[in-house]
Amino acid sequence: MLISAVVPCYNEEKVIALTYKELSAALSDMTGDFEMIFVDDGSRDGTRSILKELAESDAHVKYISFSRNFGKESAMLAGMRYSSGDYTVIMDADLQHPPELIGQMLAYAREGYDQVIAQRNRTGDKKLGSFFARSYYRLVDRLTDVELTDGIGDFRMLSRKALDALLTMNEYNRFSKGLFSWIGFREKIIHYENRSRAAGESKWSFRSLIHYGVDGVLSFNNKPLRFCIFIGAFAIIISLVYLIFLFISIVFKGIDLPGYFTTIFTICLFGGVQLISIGIVGEYVGRIYYEVKRRPHYLVDETNFDNSKENQ
Ligand code: UDP
Ligand code: MG
Repeated sequence: MLISAVVPCYNEEKVIALTYKELSAALSDMTGDFEMIFVDDGSRDGTRSILKELAESDAHVKYISFSRNFGKESAMLAGMRYSSGDYTVIMDADLQHPPELIGQMLAYAREGYDQVIAQRNRTGDKKLGSFFARSYYRLVDRLTDVELTDGIGDFRMLSRKALDALLTMNEYNRFSKGLFSWIGFREKIIHYENRSRAAGESKWSFRSLIHYGVDGVLSFNNKPLRFCIFIGAFAIIISLVYLIFLFISIVFKGIDLPGYFTTIFTICLFGGVQLISIGIVGEYVGRIYYEVKRRPHYLVDETNFDNSKENQ
């Protein structure tokens, strides 16, 4: 039995050696063989050289180095593609995903759960941040067909079956949280106490979180498009009612010129509605554009995998 750990790393020189230590300690306690796949997502600090050193001293360490920063989604995808384990665990490089949970995850996975998911609580998180996150999850839940839960991230163990299912999805715009939920299979959730980063800084800014949030909604369905149709239909009904009302009043009372406010109001309102709708359509067209180009998700610059898979 082989356990693979996939760890995406981007500028993690401050913490990666410690992560390696804790992860390998946790994995060596388990029955069966293991491999640790560190995916260096185009780090600009010493991450790559640290990984190379680790790989030289420990045969369990595999690394894949990208030619530039392709983002965590691509890094996870690469790690999953290279993983040959019967069970694959995906975790962050900053020890926010405690390796000591892996034993428990493995026990459930061996019981037959295809996805063992670790859910964190929000202790120690900034109040405002968690408020936004919670509201976001509630909104997304309503807007999309997939189920997303607050506190559930990428930290999970996948069976071979679940992993292969994930790898059949080759879309360019990847939103893992949604993909994980889309594939289904038997799931088990375990809980853990939230942790802060062991060292280094978070790569997320408020702006990138907003972009990520929009991606989450748009990459999973076309409900926003349908929403535009509903708004349009609603506007048409309202204007028809108003038109009839106006027509009747003209017939009975004659033309009554003042109407500056209503005119400006309608122009602004519908201008806004139209712009938003065009924007939403544009987002989808943009996604189709990227999707049809079929560019690879990442380019590998260096790796110690010998069966060096082609850049996909
Ligand atoms: N990460 C990555 N590529 C990126 C950004 C982040 O591989 O472009 C990795 C990062 O090294 C870490 C994980 O994704 O292992 C989560 O990142 P981070 O800790 O910054 O996010 P947070 O925990 O704050 O959500
Ligand atoms: Mg983190």
